[in-house]
Formats: sequence, structure tokens, C-alpha cells
Amino acid sequence: MAGVIRRLDETVVNRIAAGEVIQRPANAIKEMLENCLDAKSTNIQVTVKEGGLKLIQIQDNGTGIRKEDMDIVCERFTTSKLQTFEDLTAISTYGFRGEALASISHVAHVTITTKTADAKCAYRASYSDSKLKGPPKPCAGNQGTQIIVEDLFYNVSTRRKALKSPSEEYSRIVEVVSRYAIHNSGKSISVKKQGETVADVRTLPNASILDNIRGAFGNAVSRELIEVGCEDQKLAYKMKGYISNANYSVKKCILILFINHRLVESSALKKAIETVYAAYLPKNTHPFLYLSLEIAPHNIDVNVHPTKHEVHFLHEDCIIESVQKHIESKLLGSNSSRTYFTQTLLPGLSVSAGGEVKSSSGSTATESGERVYAHQMVRTDSRAQKLDAFLQPKEKPPPDPEPAGPSSSREAVSETRRPAAADMDETEDAEMLEALAEQEAGVAKDGEEETGVNTQELPRKRPRTDQEEEQEDLTAEAAPKRRVIKLISIKELRAEITDNTHKGLQDMLQNHSFVGCVNPQWTLIQHHTKLYLLNTTKLSQELFYQILIYDFGNFGVLRLSTPAPIYDLAMLALESEESGWTEEDGPKEGLAQYIVDFLKKKSEMLGDYFSMEIDQEGNLTGLPLLVDKYTPLMEGLPMFVLRLATEVNWDNEKECFRDFSKECSQFYSIRKQYILEAEPGEEQKDAESWRWKVEHIIFKAFRSLFSPPKHFSEDGSVLQIANLPDLYKVFERC
Ligand code: ADP
Ligand code: MG
Repeated sequence: MAGVIRRLDETVVNRIAAGEVIQRPANAIKEMLENCLDAKSTNIQVTVKEGGLKLIQIQDNGTGIRKEDMDIVCERFTTSKLQTFEDLTAISTYGFRGEALASISHVAHVTITTKTADAKCAYRASYSDSKLKGPPKPCAGNQGTQIIVEDLFYNVSTRRKALKSPSEEYSRIVEVVSRYAIHNSGKSISVKKQGETVADVRTLPNASILDNIRGAFGNAVSRELIEVGCEDQKLAYKMKGYISNANYSVKKCILILFINHRLVESSALKKAIETVYAAYLPKNTHPFLYLSLEIAPHNIDVNVHPTKHEVHFLHEDCIIESVQKHIESKLLGSNSSRTYFTQTLLPGLSVSAGGEVKSSSGSTATESGERVYAHQMVRTDSRAQKLDAFLQPKEKPPPDPEPAGPSSSREAVSETRRPAAADMDETEDAEMLEALAEQEAGVAKDGEEETGVNTQELPRKRPRTDQEEEQEDLTAEAAPKRRVIKLISIKELRAEITDNTHKGLQDMLQNHSFVGCVNPQWTLIQHHTKLYLLNTTKLSQELFYQILIYDFGNFGVLRLSTPAPIYDLAMLALESEESGWTEEDGPKEGLAQYIVDFLKKKSEMLGDYFSMEIDQEGNLTGLPLLVDKYTPLMEGLPMFVLRLATEVNWDNEKECFRDFSKECSQFYSIRKQYILEAEPGEEQKDAESWRWKVEHIIFKAFRSLFSPPKHFSEDGSVLQIANLPDLYKVFERC
């Protein structure tokens, strides 16, 4: 039987059409942001709940909407920006179709509160299916417009089901808002989750484009940017922006492209730019660019569908070529230090390289087992110990994190093992661990391999499988009991680490010879005939992260000699520039108190799982002992405490453990600040204690505890800077 063709109900048609325009919360927010900017707003605040699916609220301080226009703003093809078709070609505002609000009102509950400069009061009205639900009601309000969109796609169940992850939607929202925030530097734009005190993106009215890129993408990229700018009268275009230099690269190209102030995509332009960079960057890595193009309006087809981000314009090829040339010239002239760093590709360490490598025979073993000729041999043994390994520098008590009031403490720390382990003698403990390590690694112990001191600290080998963990639990009968963690979230996080291990890098770190520290951030090591420069900050952070995940629930405690009031720590952090606190966040005292109360509520869990101890009075009394003899730099404690309250997703078990461990490992990592440790008048040895830590604690741990992730071979964390045979060749020619 043939189906009857029926005309679709008008509301259904509208709903489908609306779904085409607004595909996800981030689209809606982009359209509304543009409306705010069209209305000359200088302050725009976006608040969302459940990734925008439950609630989107956008508050601006723009011109507002006149009361008499309020009944039609949500109708299709009503716009205050266009009267005739000719206007289209000279359009300079974002919107021109009057389609966004109409579409949103077909798939969500919309409420608008708005006040123009000359109106006596604000008006509020609600809309559904593009129609006003009732006459606008007078109410109090400042000049500007607030639009609330609730229950997006409540009537389009397929769309709602397709968007099942609010956190994914939220990250897209943050992406859109931060890009508009960068482009509209000079205005204040922010986005946050409802109920949060701290915004995820916030730009300040006096911040520069560069400041805002730093805020959204971090310092690593912002300090490697070159300003660009060019124009061509004949092609009637102008371009300006910032592009990364040849020292910087990322896994995926980031091209933030605005054409006539609208965020768009142009795959043709992207391709052209990537070809330029291909000559400068390591293979499979890409640049970061923010470009703002202005093209004569009559040359650009603005009448594209809202979801069609891809744009085309007249003289496209010529303009792209011109932009390409300009970028190339800037890159060429940009820096002289480049030659050193372009070698970020690691020929011997491509991600695919490796497999299980056993090199018990020391440095003469090669991955493939092929013959090693005398001239390729390196006269150093990665197992060789230096004398200074036995001379641990005297620990200087970590300095005060600035006087924070009378109760501020010298946070000297003492190490305490878990109670169960406390009665164990150090050697016994070590022996047990060693036995376990052997068993886990499944290798016979090489009699001469470990010296006395070595064994004392022999760490547990990783990665460990669950089975092995269970086994370990059995073996440990007479010994301190290691808690077996059965949480799926932790097992998954462990698997992520194991699955992502770069075997070649792991072999390199296990069998390296330590050469020296360049500074707290960079360390030189040798492996076989090659010299490598390693980012100590990134590697140590990852090391601590992995320890936090693997030893979850089994840490000893670093006890603070004097309890540190969390309130004072939070206040210190809020007072630092790094926190990004502004008056809009509310009084610091209130936030600090909130952080105390919040962390107190979590103290049982934090103490149990992470040995982070907080007492009844809201003092921090203990931190996890991650590696023997290692204490983090206490200057980082205030920011750590603040970030625990702002950066950790406490609602989801796995994310919570991951976020906490990320924050904690950042706090423990070896950072630039270590150089500040050297205070005038202090003994050189004390000041240099970070060097000892790096060599004898951190890099030692890399030999056994560490599963370096694959991205380290590509993101510049590990750089090969010399190859011995090549150097010989240079000498031969002399
Ligand atoms: P368009 O932006 O294409 O005109 P929209 O559906 O996005 O269409 O918006 C419809 C109209 O509503 C706009 O033309 C404008 O007059 C008004 N409007 C929407 N948002 C705002 C705002 N934040 N401030 C002032 N007016 C607004
Ligand atoms: Mg619009």
C-alpha cells in the first residue's frame, strides 16, 4: 500500500528547520553572542547548566530591545539590521537574517529581559514557537539584554539523544566563547557553569589579544607568537593576527579564523597555511594561528547558512596566496634559535618504534639486535652510579608561602608511612618490594645490578596488571598490606596510562645516562649514541600523575610540621595574579571560606585515597608521599588548594580522580620556580638541591616507574639534539 503523502504540520516543519540552524548549544551561543556584539555590548556573560542543554543565560550591556519590538523579535525574518536586498551587500553586522532567535524559540523555552537606554524600566517576555507567550511585563533591570534559553531540544528527542554528553557540549561552548573573546579583545567576555564561582574563560576590558590568547591557550603558545598583518588594496582585503613560530607545534592545527568578525572556517586557507609550515615544523605537527581577515563586503557571500561555517569569497585564490606569502616571510625572519630546535623529530623514536626491549647487557644492546660496531659504542654505562647519589643535600625547610597572618607556618614536612607499614624496617620493606618487583617484571635478578643503596629504594615496577596486583596482595601476607583498589575508574585510568606507553621512549628512559640539568625545566641525557634534551617539568608532572594513579589509596603521608590553614592558603592564591580573580567573582574572603568548607567536606575521601589530610579546623596537615625523599615546592601550595576547588570535576568519580591527580602532579612537578629557591647568602649546595632531586630522585624513578606517553615524542618534551656518529663525521673532516 502506498503511503499517503501529507503536508507536514507547520510546527513540525519549523522544528526541523530550527534543528538545522541550531544543532547544538554552542551554535545557539555563537548566534546570541553575535547579537550581543551587534548591539554594541562591552560586557557579555554566558552561564550554562548541563552543557547548555538545561540552561543558557547570556547577559549583555548593549543597546537593548525596544518594548514595541519585543513581540516580534523571535519571528523568522525579523531583524533590525536589514531592510532591502541591497543592504545585504554592505552589511557589517553579524546577523542579517533574523533566523537565530526564531529557531531557538522553536526548540527551547526562551525568556528575554531587556532595557534600552531611554526606557524607564526593563521588560520581560517569554516565547515559544517564535510567538510571544504573553505581553511583556515591566520589571527592574540594567540597560542591556538578558536571554535565557531553557531545556534546549525538549521537543526534539532525537537531537537531545544525540547530544548525550554535557561535558562535551560544554567544551565546545568554551571553545566558541574563548574565540570570540580573543577576537573581541577590549571587551569583557566570560563563560562559566551555573553555580561555579570561577569562570572558565574570562577576558578583561583592558586585556590585549595576546593576553587573551594566553588566558585561553596558555603561556607555552602565547610566548611563541609572531604578530602578522598585511593588506592589499587591489584585492580589497586586510589581515592581521598572531601566528606561532617554528619553535612551537601542536598535534592538531589550530586556526582561529575570523572573516569580517565572524568565526568561520576555510579549508582552502588552512591547507595553504599548512604547506608553509610543513617546511618548518616536525612531521605530523601543526601551528597555531589567530587570523582576522577583513574583506570588502561586496566580495563576500554572507548569505551562507548559519551552520555552514565554511566560507567562500571573491578572488579567494589570490587572497589566500597573498596571505600565504606574508606568513612565510614572517616565519623566515622570525628567529635565529630555530636551527637548534627544528630537530624535534626523533628518528629513532617514532611512535611505532619499539616493542618490548630488554637491554640487560647495557648500552651495547640495540632495539633490533643488529651488530654494534666499535665506533658506535658509547663508553658509559647507564647503570653507573655517581658518588653524589649518596650525598643527599640537607633539606632546607621549605619557605613560608609569604606571611599570611599570625598562624602562617613554616611548612617543614616529615615523612610518615601508612600505619600498617610503620612498624616495618626499611630494609625489610625494600626487600619485599624488590621481590614483588621481580615477580611483576618476570625477570631474574641480575646479582650485580643493584648496589645497597639502590635496593633500599627499589621502586615497584610498572605497569602492573590487576592480576598482578591481586597476586601481590597474596604475597604481601606477612608484610604491610597494600590495599587492592577495585574501583573501575582507577582501573580505567591505569589502563589509559599503560595503553598509551611509548615503548621506545620507555627503553630510552630506563637505560639512559644522566648528563646534566640545563635548568629546572630542561635536562640532558644520553642514550646509546644520542644526546637528548628532556622537558623535566612535563616529564616529572607525568611521573607524579602516574604514581598518584598507580599507588592510589596507598600513599604515605608527608606531615606538615605546623598545620597550614586552608583559608590563608586560598587567600594567598586569590591575591596572586595567577588566580585571575576579579571583583565580579565576589569578595575573596567569601571564596576562601567556601574553599575551606568545600575541601573539609571532601576531607575523608582525600585523606583515605590521597593521604591529603585536613583537620576539623580546616587546616591542611598532610600531603601524599609520592616518592621517597621528595617534597614539593611549597610555593605551589596556595594555587594547588585554589585549583582543587575550581579545576576538579568532583561530580564524576573518574574525572575527579584524574583531575585531582593532574592538579596534584602539577604541584609536585619540577618547575622554573625552583631557581628562586636560591636565596642570597645561602650555601650553594642548598640552593642547588633541585639538581640533586632531578638527578637522583626524578630521573632515577624514570628508570623503573615510568610509562612515558606517546605524545612526548611529538610535542617537544623530548628533543634529540645530537647524534655521536654525526659528530665523529664532523671531527673527521677537521
Ligand atoms: P539577526 O541577528 O539576524 O537580526 P536574530 O534572530 O539573531 O536575527 O535576532 C533578531 C533581532 O533581535 C535582532 O535583529 C535584534 O534586533 C534583536 N536582538 C537579539 N539579541 C539582541 C541583543 N542581545 N541585544 C539587542 N538586540 C537583540
Ligand atoms: Mg543574530
